[in-house]
Amino acid sequence: MIKVNKLPKPTELTPDVVLKLTTEYKTTKKSVWKKAYIEEALLSSSHSKCAYCECKLNVESKYMEVEHYQDKHTHPDLVVDWDNLLPSCKRCNGRKHKHNTEINPIIDPSKMNPQEHLKMKYYRLIGKTDIGKETISVLLLNDTRKVVQKRFEISQLVHEKIEELLEKCQDYHTGSKSTRLRNRIVQTTKNILEEASPQAEYAATVASDILNDPHFHKIIDILKSEYLWDSELDELFIATQDIALL
Ligand SMILES: [Zn+2]
Repeated sequence: MIKVNKLPKPTELTPDVVLKLTTEYKTTKKSVWKKAYIEEALLSSSHSKCAYCECKLNVESKYMEVEHYQDKHTHPDLVVDWDNLLPSCKRCNGRKHKHNTEINPIIDPSKMNPQEHLKMKYYRLIGKTDIGKETISVLLLNDTRKVVQKRFEISQLVHEKIEELLEKCQDYHTGSKSTRLRNRIVQTTKNILEEASPQAEYAATVASDILNDPHFHKIIDILKSEYLWDSELDELFIATQDIALL
């Protein structure tokens, strides 16, 4: 889970429209939130990922569902309240269902920083606070088959790239400093950090894993000693630190 920077409320969602849709929901229970302008703004806010588990949405039959942080059954007045809506996968939305966040709050990633409530260990999330623990338990964020396995698989690919990159860095450091090898090293380092950037699937997992990998820190040391660490790498590295769950 990473912080979700929600876009401003869609212009279509005027006070009049909100009142009309809310009234319609209260009388008919229709899915009044199913509007393209709401769904598109939510997807753009989260880089098309589930705000809770970070799976990519609208790919491989994983369609986005509009999640009501405060459940719509208890709080019908918030059914199209922009501040109450999050993009979610079917699994997370289903797990949360009618959970009352007023009595037992969970992380609202558009208002709270998940870094303060969660850490990652062996691809499993650990709650640092009561809210963190409640979030993991309500959303079943350590479901082995559906979530932990995916985090593991994506991280293994990144670790393979780090191992290959470290060898190249050591070759460059001790051997011939060809331009081709130098460019490949810098580009591969950027590619690895991009896999831990906010738009990447399971970015919090990859970011945490990269920062916990001593071989990645060796790569950084070599790049700095060879004056290959540039401002773009620095920005990507800061972005990784900003989402890692340590
Ligand atoms: Zn999810």
